[in-house]
Amino acid sequence: MFYFDPIYLLLMLPGMALMFLAQSKVKGTYRRYSQVQSTMGMTGAQVAQTILMKKGVSGIRIEPVAGELTDHYDPSAKAVRLSEGIYNSTSLAAAAVAAHECGHVLQDVEGYKFMNLRAALVPAVNLGSRLGPILIMAGLILNFLNLAWIGIFFFAAVLLFHVVTLPVEFDASGRALRLIDELGILQGEENKGAKAVLSAAALTYVATAFYAFLNLLYYIVLINRRR
Ligand SMILES: [Zn+2]
Repeated sequence: MFYFDPIYLLLMLPGMALMFLAQSKVKGTYRRYSQVQSTMGMTGAQVAQTILMKKGVSGIRIEPVAGELTDHYDPSAKAVRLSEGIYNSTSLAAAAVAAHECGHVLQDVEGYKFMNLRAALVPAVNLGSRLGPILIMAGLILNFLNLAWIGIFFFAAVLLFHVVTLPVEFDASGRALRLIDELGILQGEENKGAKAVLSAAALTYVATAFYAFLNLLYYIVLINRRR
């Protein structure tokens, strides 16, 4: 019933368009700068090792992980996981992504407040993304709107998570770009390539938050139509 609603399409279309745009941009930029090798010739794994060593951070494992663009920092395992295309690559994209994940490590070490808030929201998101839509639908079907509003509350937690993700990601990228420049991992024009890769990645997080916002808006419209 949702997807044949013209209001749904009208409302979600800009969200879908931005999502598509961001995803194709990140793929294109990543592909482009995966082909460009850095002068220093450090692999993603070496970039991560160098940054953590220079910043005096120890006890963090740097390990390869399967897939493409699956790179992440796991704070509970104290592990930076770099996709195989990044781990062994000496490209500008590899340096940018590896440095970005180290940015998350530094946030963790410093107790960066948005990172802690984001971590605290994870259980709410897991619950909210499943339970929210169910409660909203059940509330609408049973014509029990208070139940639907509880669903909205759960779904709002999902939006909050995506919004809090933005400063965390922007900050990690900011740190990454400063570090690869300061430590001489990339030189001169090479820094622009790294910036392009991380800016494209940042856009996907903006698109995701925007999409979650439109989704919430749609549910609110649905409930209000019932009055
Ligand atoms: Zn990140």
